[in-house]
Amino acid sequence: MKYDVLIIGAGPVGNYLARLLAGKLDVAVVERKRSFGGKACTGIIGAESFERLDLPKEAVLNPLRGALFKSRIQSFEIARKSAQAYVVDRKTLERKLAEEAVRKGADYFVGTTFTGFRDGRARLQHLKETFEISADIYVGADGVASTVAKEIGAESDAEFLKGYEVEIVGEFRPDFVEVWVNKDLNPEFFSWVVPISANVARVGTFGSLEALNRFLRTRGLKPTSVLEFKAGSVGLGWRKPWVKGNVALVGDAALQIKPTTAGGIVFGAICAYHLAEAILSGDLPQYVAACSAIRKQISFGLRIRKAFKGLSQEGIERIFEVLGSQEAKEVIEEQADFDDHLRTFKAIARRPKLLAGLLRASPSLIRALL
Ligand SMILES: Cc1cc2nc3c(=O)[nH]c(=O)nc-3n(C[C@H](O)[C@H](O)[C@H](O)COP(=O)(O)OP(=O)(O)OC[C@H]3O[C@@H](n4cnc5c(N)ncnc54)[C@H](O)[C@@H]3O)c2cc1C
Repeated sequence: MKYDVLIIGAGPVGNYLARLLAGKLDVAVVERKRSFGGKACTGIIGAESFERLDLPKEAVLNPLRGALFKSRIQSFEIARKSAQAYVVDRKTLERKLAEEAVRKGADYFVGTTFTGFRDGRARLQHLKETFEISADIYVGADGVASTVAKEIGAESDAEFLKGYEVEIVGEFRPDFVEVWVNKDLNPEFFSWVVPISANVARVGTFGSLEALNRFLRTRGLKPTSVLEFKAGSVGLGWRKPWVKGNVALVGDAALQIKPTTAGGIVFGAICAYHLAEAILSGDLPQYVAACSAIRKQISFGLRIRKAFKGLSQEGIERIFEVLGSQEAKEVIEEQADFDDHLRTFKAIARRPKLLAGLLRASPSLIRALL
């Protein structure tokens, strides 16, 4: 079997790339799982990016228009009139993208695991059957523990975090997420409550299961009200190279993830777009250069992540005082972008009073960001 492009991994990013390339080139996709979805993922996607990337509307479970931020002793809200983000159903998202790719001519091999390259061909395993596919270009879209990345000798200096998430019954404001930044509850990361309705939310955190249990208790949610439990990993940092010879990495396989929130669907899909352009123009290495805006966002996010790890809860409280002020709320409500934290920070830093407040709150944070 011979294709122009073989995509390894049919998560949101692999399927998105397949949809972009199918009908223009001979495309095949291999996916280890026997059905779509199932990954631990809150499924929150910025509304602007969702529309721009033309993601399938059928996947939207719930639109969100605001966020409640809580620290140990403070809280403030940011809200807009229209939806700022959507919570999606991962299975529907992946399946719909795959369905569109198949309709445009892509071949899918589900329940098929990529095990390595041999003599320039991809070795695959389906049940007890082993076979090979050859392609001009191979794409590793096989997630954070990418086998393709290992095969090309990609190296990483990333921080790998385990995420724990439940779907739980409770009482929630259906159009507001909650972001709890409290190192007493979890020193590693913030904890989140993302409602899919007024009665069910996805609640999670990165770090440890104990941290999630502490958070559930503090939030007044009963462990016996859990409907689903999932665990998964993210890598915050760099894995390089993104291209080696005729092999490219994209999505979580390339660690194209926001280090601030661990969201990876949008960055992965944007990079998949640049990868598709590079493949179609016959200039694969151009892909890396074309992703410069995402690389900037990752590098900015890594600086925030480093500063967050160095902050005490008292430092976080001082930052909350500034961000919870009327002026900061106005700037964030008017100018913040769900997927562009650099732009959000620049908007805040342009206000002298806010910048001075943040400098007083945490000089090291501001030095790192400027
Ligand atoms: C707890 C948690 C919450 C998260 N919440 C969000 C969120 O709210 N918003 C957001 O944007 N991101 C979130 N993320 C991150 C998000 O899940 C990833 O960034 C996203 O799934 C990346 O998509 P992908 O297609 O690159 O990789 P994946 O979704 O990991 O897909 C990779 C696919 O490759 C397949 N595969 C792997 N190895 C092989 C192989 N050898 N052969 C064949 N197939 C293979 C896998 O089965 C899988 O289907 C979260 C992550 C975690 C852990």
